[in-house]
Amino acid sequence: MYQNTNVRNLGLIGHGDSGKTTFCEGLLYLTKATNRFGTIEDGTTVSDYNADEIERKISISSSLLYCEWNNYKINIVDTPGYPDFTGEVKSALDVVDVGGVFVNAVSGVEVGTEIVWAYAEEKKVPRIIIINKLDKENVNFDAIYDVIKDRLGKKVIAVQFPVNVGPGFDSIVDLINMKLMKYKKDSTGDFEISDIPDDLKGKAEEMREKLVEQIAEIDDELIEKYLENGELTEEEFTTGLKKSILEQHIFPAFCCSAISNISTKSILNFLINYCPSSNQMPPKVGLIPKTGQESTRKIDENEPISLYIFKTVSEPNVGEVSLFKMISGVLKSGNELLNSTEGGSERIGQIYLINGKDRKEVSQVFAGDMGAVVKLKNTHTGDTLCNSESPIKYKEIEFPSPVIRTAVIPKSKGDEEKINTGLTLLHEEDPSFISNYDSELKQTIVSGQGELHIDIIMKRLKQKFGVGVELAEPRIPYRETIKSTAEGHKKYKKQSGGRGQYGEVYLRLEPQKRGGGFEFVNAIVGGVIPAKYIPSVEKGVRQALEEGVLANYPVVDVMATVVDGSFHNVDSSDIAFKLAASMGFKDGFLKGRPVLLEPIYEMEITVPEEFMGDVMGDISSRRGKIMGMDSEGPFQVIKAKVPLAELYKYSTSLRSITSGRGIHKRKFSHYEEVPKDISEKIIEKAKKDKEEE
Ligand code: GDP
Repeated sequence: MYQNTNVRNLGLIGHGDSGKTTFCEGLLYLTKATNRFGTIEDGTTVSDYNADEIERKISISSSLLYCEWNNYKINIVDTPGYPDFTGEVKSALDVVDVGGVFVNAVSGVEVGTEIVWAYAEEKKVPRIIIINKLDKENVNFDAIYDVIKDRLGKKVIAVQFPVNVGPGFDSIVDLINMKLMKYKKDSTGDFEISDIPDDLKGKAEEMREKLVEQIAEIDDELIEKYLENGELTEEEFTTGLKKSILEQHIFPAFCCSAISNISTKSILNFLINYCPSSNQMPPKVGLIPKTGQESTRKIDENEPISLYIFKTVSEPNVGEVSLFKMISGVLKSGNELLNSTEGGSERIGQIYLINGKDRKEVSQVFAGDMGAVVKLKNTHTGDTLCNSESPIKYKEIEFPSPVIRTAVIPKSKGDEEKINTGLTLLHEEDPSFISNYDSELKQTIVSGQGELHIDIIMKRLKQKFGVGVELAEPRIPYRETIKSTAEGHKKYKKQSGGRGQYGEVYLRLEPQKRGGGFEFVNAIVGGVIPAKYIPSVEKGVRQALEEGVLANYPVVDVMATVVDGSFHNVDSSDIAFKLAASMGFKDGFLKGRPVLLEPIYEMEITVPEEFMGDVMGDISSRRGKIMGMDSEGPFQVIKAKVPLAELYKYSTSLRSITSGRGIHKRKFSHYEEVPKDISEKIIEKAKKDKEEE
């Protein structure tokens, strides 16, 4: 078993296709955790073991892996790089102490790199940069290094530089030990060390000086020593380097070819020698469940037990596997713990260390380490389990807001319940996927991070719950309102048979400003409608509001004043006044230049500059208005307002326009009038639907 100081928790993050999964494979291979170097192409990696991942050749969800090296345990959370799955990156960053940020040396800093970088900044995770694929044709290290410093900031600093980039790449100058490392070509990750050749000495010394200077700047004491002596002692250098990483004063950059295991071993050694373990990180912030007061917990085995579930996966034949980070205490099988997020207790059965889908049972796990438990009763992603005498609840993961919404329609009638249960469970497994039944639209709406994300969830629904669905464009929550003041009138009178019904209502309807909602005013004088019937008048009006007048959408932003009316001593009743008010409202509404309103969304679209024209053209063709533009390095951020009705599958179109390099965020902004030609079609369709009912 490994104690805190001998554990490192590394999260691999970066744009898709930068080599993260391959790097894991190399790491497992060189530390002999596996005996073969699996490949993406053959679908044989430990990390991407799902059928979906093998089929698509991309990571879809994070995997937890580990390897052992010189009495250290390295936990690796390999995260997916596609924007559809950034929720996974956020949850991984909650539990790792070092982010390994992958940059593809061929394509440079990509949209996905920037997204994960921003998350890591927000969560204050120490980081190293791994510049990968240096074995590719036409790569230029100096250029890419400049781009990285430019885009990710001046705290990025090389601790290595490559000697012979391109096919045949095998040698690196290490600026920490000031040696040349020549790697074997057999993927073992082994290398020979020699002195730096004369022709590279100048560059090495210059780069080393920059590294030392940047480290020295961590504090006044060190910079004074550096200025005094012109250098740092080995001990000062080592302590300064560790501190600089921990405090995110520097982000060391490495030169890698993951596919040939070049540099992997030096990254591994660096992790052990210079990167923090969990107990060096600040205590984890949580809440005391009963009082809601903030509290912190040291990442320490001597503290009471608490652990954080950062992911749940359901595995065939096993059921739900909950991956956890041990925050404090020591977890043993048989522990009886409180789920402080959901309430309720959980008994810990077997505890495992896991490598993708392979598991190894262990008797205990110490604070700072990661593992997995199975068959918890009611514990989901983001939950805390803890000792009930010292309860604490850690913050749940904040997932990015969805960028796609779509309706799901059962393939066979009668499956509704199974579908809803399945969707709920899939949400518990992956909270960045959301589903809910919209009673206004009368549709089950699912939303997520992209079409691929939704496709994969629907496939899981079929596999796990045996129910198929079709995806359809969701209905749009239109609204109705009027543009001018009008008067509505209805005399409701019935005298055939039994008791008669009588109620007469005059209403004045006035438009309100957008978002103003509904207001009901009683302006009856002299008791022309007795006070006891006024609540029924209001009820009638509210019913008409809900039912809508033009196309059965709710009415908003109207003030209705009941101004006049009449009653009958015997025949008047609540029901008669309710009906009169509802019909009177509809009468007035149609005279008040009624219109449909549609939801408008605020969009922020980030794309590389070269795609800007196409993306803006596409926005205009969707009736969107461009509100502004900002440049962020090589990216342009376009701000626009676009009707929701035009946004179905937008993330997919954006990806195809920008070859996968554009991303967008959206949020509801306001309601706006629907253009006349479109509104006529909607009204027509509503009438037809009503007739068919
Ligand atoms: P991820 O999406 O970041 O996990 O990237 P993968 O590990 O799936 O790699 C994407 C593709 O790049 C695969 O086809 C790999 O074989 C390939 N690849 C990964 N690392 C290297 C490398 O160092 N050199 C070369 N030439 N190809 C690599």
